[in-house]
Amino acid sequence: MSERGVAKEIPSPFETSTDRTPHHTDPVQNQLMNPVNMISVRPDQPAPSDSKIKTVPTASQSTQYRLKVMLDPGHGGKDDGAAGRHGIREKQVSLLLAKKIKREVESIAKKQGYPLEVQLTRENDTFIPLKERVRMANNWGADMFVSIHLNSSPVPKARGFEVYFLSPEASDPETERLALKESEGQLPSEKSDVLSILSDVRTTFHTNESAQFAEDMFTSISKRVLSNGRGVRQGPFTVLHGTNMPAILVEVGYVTHPQESFLLTKEAYLKRLASAISSGIIEFGLRTRKLG
Ligand SMILES: [Zn+2]
Repeated sequence: MSERGVAKEIPSPFETSTDRTPHHTDPVQNQLMNPVNMISVRPDQPAPSDSKIKTVPTASQSTQYRLKVMLDPGHGGKDDGAAGRHGIREKQVSLLLAKKIKREVESIAKKQGYPLEVQLTRENDTFIPLKERVRMANNWGADMFVSIHLNSSPVPKARGFEVYFLSPEASDPETERLALKESEGQLPSEKSDVLSILSDVRTTFHTNESAQFAEDMFTSISKRVLSNGRGVRQGPFTVLHGTNMPAILVEVGYVTHPQESFLLTKEAYLKRLASAISSGIIEFGLRTRKLG
């Protein structure tokens, strides 16, 4: 999604910790500064009162299973991803957001006593091929894979978020174009060898779980941040191909939309998105009984 090198001369607000863009009085931003729906996963389930007190372990605690969550900030290094208004570069926002999600998921897990581990496919501005990202998740034995991206469109009014899971066929022509953009111009290769076929079998096995994960994530973001979701879709994304675990790709918004791109430069908005995505992750973990 780097075909539009818009506003490259504008310094990105993500290169400094202090936002110096002249938008501080924007009413939308003021609204966002108000605390909103901070997540309380499973409010009906009290957190352990004192984790130091030894108690008889429950069946789930005794397994000592640690849920492994692999977060994948899209693009990086020579691959900027989408470039848009307000100096936004997709690779920077996806990394910022992934780091916030990691912190938030770890914080929820700590409060609730969930055994959970989070890793990022990249922690800085480096280029990592898509297949390498998949390999990292598989080798680590991740239980969930979440790829974070920002969308762009030649139509400035296009806005909203989408959640995708892998399928050989795109659900619609727009998804097919997006899958191509997000897959370094290459869709998953033909099933030409045994390894590829085996990987496909595993992928198929996880398709239903991935679809459920995508639904949970879509609901979580819709409830907590945005009502303008464009739905759960499926498509042949290379970064999801071959993953041995439920895997989704979230396009959190359009860098080409005037207001949405502005919001995506704001710390408070990214924090809300991170909270909602974190809740989606935890909720799916609880659903699959790997947590709680
Ligand atoms: Zn992308």
